[in-house]
Amino acid sequence: MVTSKGYFGPFGGIFVPETLVPACRELAIAFQRCRKDKKFLSEFHSLLCEFAGRPTALTFCQNLSKKLGCKLFLKREDLAHTGAHKINNALGQALLAKHMGKTRLIAETGAGQHGVATATASAKLGMKCDIFMGTVDIERQKPNVVRMKLLGANVIPVSSGSKTLKDAINDALRDWTASVETTHYLLGSVLGPHPYPGMVAFFQSVIGREARKQILKEAGQLPDAIIACVGGGSNAIGIFNAFLKDASVALIGVEAGGKGISTHHHAARFADPAAGRPGIIHGTKTFVLQDKDGQIANTHSISAGLDYSAVGPEHSFLRQLKRAQYGFATDGEALEGFQALSKEEGIIPALESAHAVGYLLKHKSNFKNKLVLINLSGRGDKDLDTAVKEIGLDN
Ligand SMILES: *Cc1c(COP(=O)(O)O)cnc(C)c1O
Repeated sequence: MVTSKGYFGPFGGIFVPETLVPACRELAIAFQRCRKDKKFLSEFHSLLCEFAGRPTALTFCQNLSKKLGCKLFLKREDLAHTGAHKINNALGQALLAKHMGKTRLIAETGAGQHGVATATASAKLGMKCDIFMGTVDIERQKPNVVRMKLLGANVIPVSSGSKTLKDAINDALRDWTASVETTHYLLGSVLGPHPYPGMVAFFQSVIGREARKQILKEAGQLPDAIIACVGGGSNAIGIFNAFLKDASVALIGVEAGGKGISTHHHAARFADPAAGRPGIIHGTKTFVLQDKDGQIANTHSISAGLDYSAVGPEHSFLRQLKRAQYGFATDGEALEGFQALSKEEGIIPALESAHAVGYLLKHKSNFKNKLVLINLSGRGDKDLDTAVKEIGLDN
């Protein structure tokens, strides 16, 4: 649904310094060429199947379905290599960069998940890799820092500003301005300037294509509702895309409600009308959490992957069109989803994905007798420390 200039209705576009416009343009042209190139697509498909473990399973949740009075299926992105959907996009962009003749990948990372996916793709494709990461995040996310180093990536500490994700993005963009001849900037979600939002959606759309086939085969019908958590929004767009034309399928994105919408400690760009408004951030026009002067607001979520002040422009447009609807789950509701899925189904989800489960638990009366498909974006191994702290499992 993206225009050639990168607009989704009034959202999207290219809002970058003039020095970066040629890089975005070169990338857009290369992507247009590769998305139609049989050789590129078949290489991408092989990487997804032989390296990343696709197709991922579709799992029927017998126990939770009985409890909730609906029929619940999960699309199991937690089973993809490195434990989440992020690998789909990392492999797609790394391969594209290689076809463009680039030899080096750079990326920003907050919790380290996108850094690990990028380092993995760059090891597989034999490219150099530099990951920008705030010093506060380096301290908080040691295991992922070790993973990236093992995978051969160089982790570059960023000590400006709040020493977290948004500062790492600024440094990565600055690096790219100076290094674009050899370097591709591998962005992690459906965010940033054109062509990133549409391109990341394209690389993630394999999720929805597989899920559509699988659920038609397993259940003999399309789902009544699809629920996915929304940070930047790439796993949600990845599954929504294949169902956009099926008007009977409700598409539901779940944002991080943090400690509650009224507390302002959340990352719910759509659910908080006082703070979520269209604005421009990191190269794109979309819904951004901001104060009344337009300063980007700080966000809070128990899950690092949902803790970002903006949402991808395509989601802003789907919401305006009323094709998708957006709700939220608080930290506490996500923890309930986290425990329910673990105990009832034997699947420990990422805390991000647990927001989708928490949303279903909270609104279960809306889904009586419905066929519900949740995109389980990742696995929860990375969240065990948080779980111990929040649930109190260590005694
Ligand atoms: C990064 C991440 C997310 C959030 O990113 P989206 O672009 O919104 O999909 C969600 N779930 C998991 C497991 C993640 O690692």
